Amino acid sequence: MADQKLFIDGEYVDAASGETFTTYEPATNTPYAEVAKASREDAERAIKAARRAFDEGPWPKMSGAERAEKLNKVADLIEANSAKFAEAEARDGGGTIKKATFADIPGGVGAFRWFARCAAEQPEQVDREPNPFPPSTNYVRYEPHGVTTGVIPWNFPFIMASWKIAPSLAAGNCAVIKPASYTSVSALMLGEIFQEADIPPGVINIVAGPGGTVGEELASSPLVDKTAFTGSTEVGRRIMQLASGTVKPTTLELGGKSANIVLDDANLDIAAAAVLFGTFFHNGQVCESGTRALVHESIYDELVDLLVERASKMVIGDPLDFASDLGPLVSRGQVETVERYVKLGRDEVGEPVCGGSRPEGLPDNLDHEAFYKPTIFTQVPNSAKIAQEEIFGPVLCVIPFSTDDEAVAIANDSIYGLAGGVQSTNIERAQGIANRMRTGTVWINDYHMITPDKPFGGYKQSGIGRELGVEGYRAYQQVKHVHTSTSTTKEEYLQFSALSGEI
Ligand code: NAP
Ligand code: MG
Repeated sequence: MADQKLFIDGEYVDAASGETFTTYEPATNTPYAEVAKASREDAERAIKAARRAFDEGPWPKMSGAERAEKLNKVADLIEANSAKFAEAEARDGGGTIKKATFADIPGGVGAFRWFARCAAEQPEQVDREPNPFPPSTNYVRYEPHGVTTGVIPWNFPFIMASWKIAPSLAAGNCAVIKPASYTSVSALMLGEIFQEADIPPGVINIVAGPGGTVGEELASSPLVDKTAFTGSTEVGRRIMQLASGTVKPTTLELGGKSANIVLDDANLDIAAAAVLFGTFFHNGQVCESGTRALVHESIYDELVDLLVERASKMVIGDPLDFASDLGPLVSRGQVETVERYVKLGRDEVGEPVCGGSRPEGLPDNLDHEAFYKPTIFTQVPNSAKIAQEEIFGPVLCVIPFSTDDEAVAIANDSIYGLAGGVQSTNIERAQGIANRMRTGTVWINDYHMITPDKPFGGYKQSGIGRELGVEGYRAYQQVKHVHTSTSTTKEEYLQFSALSGEI
């Protein structure tokens, strides 16, 4: 059994209380690791280490190019250890080894490389037009906030840790990160990489422990200058309240109920793939999953047949087997949530056309109660609870529509606005619809294509601000305007001299 300690001030340490908690492998419901359980005291210790590293240490004084070199070294070292990270990711969270190998670890590496590039290439200072009155030169500087914190969820632990750490450090901040309690291991393992890459002590600290104490301290501490959170909308609201005490800039990536619109001119082969991948990738435990497929009535039956045929061929099994398309959900509790929603769906719209139960015939070593079949409900009114609420499981609602305007109206009829898709062979028409969708990302003839150089985030209750892209880098910086007077006589010196000629 692994033994994971907290990473504070450049060292692995036990929790001050000496307490630990067990993290499980959801596939087998067996203990995976004993993890040091931070308390508020440990969170404070980590924040103070980051504060010291920022106020007194070399990191914020280094040039962007120097920081970029260090972060590229981090990326190299992760790549060199990618099999180890992929295995931890799959075991601790239940996602497939295929997803961990081809999406999670490269996704984390990509974030470190992208933000390294931002540190090296984005200007730290930009001249602005000289002012004629009052005569002056002017420039704008981009500076680190100071200490940033990040609280992250269990669905993509490694990528989420990378998205919170890489931009913060690239911009010259020092950071404290809290992984989710179900999946703390891969984030904590990063400590070794930071040690090997010679990131100075305190620049990055990783503390596992309960959201209600450790997470709250990270979001509320007066020593913290900016906070970022990914997870449920409910906890996002709480983070905002906590951050408001010291008016901290706050980035939130929250829930979603994204619409994937299939137009009557879509290539159905591609559209079916985009809908299935968009919904069932990682069992739908993805905030931007396209869990509402809006399908034109003229192709509705044909597409549903394709979806059902292909969904039932997806291989559910041991996440450590490269042949598995779907592993378990993150916990039995998450399966129970899915079961509650499927029961609600049966009451609201009737029997699903596929799935609707746990899979049969899994090997004995697997925990049958942690798996669930891809499930599709058809003829779902958008007002149904299963179409409005985030389920975070393998459940697709297929909703019919008859005109483009109606499709846009249904897509936008949601408290969320994270992402969406349009499937069509007419790109101009598809982009016209994409531009009318009130969401942060739209994929045309595709889905889930998030890359580190493009901004990601939500409209409406899906969040505030953007991660990734240049936008996500700038989110980790303060903006300062410096005005330098070029006046040589007192008379033209102060712009208010007309009001206060005597001073
Ligand atoms: P969550 O409760 O929002 O947890 C996310 C993170 O916040 C975890 O690290 C959690 O710590 C921490 N946390 C919990 N309460 C906190 C508090 N009061 N103050 C500060 N931090 C706190 O999400 P979840 O339990 O993982 O999943 C619940 C639902 O959230 C899902 O069913 C899904 O709908 C949604 N979700 C969305 C995303 C997304 O990417 N948008 C990701 C995951 C889940 P602990 O792990 O210690 O509780
Ligand atoms: Mg676990």
